[in-house]
Amino acid sequence: MPLDDPFKKKIARHHLLMKSVCRSCGALNPIKAKKCRRCRSKDLRLKKRELPK
Ligand SMILES: [Zn+2]
Repeated sequence: MPLDDPFKKKIARHHLLMKSVCRSCGALNPIKAKKCRRCRSKDLRLKKRELPK
């Protein structure tokens, strides 16, 4: 589904980045997760990238 609305695009991209990544297994977890949903490691990092303009 192509998004033509730049505002929606911005939101969509924002939500794609609002994830945390497990340092042990690399699984994506919700940003609020305290533990990895796959391996239960607590070693999560935020998936953070500069938004392309
Ligand atoms: Zn994990």
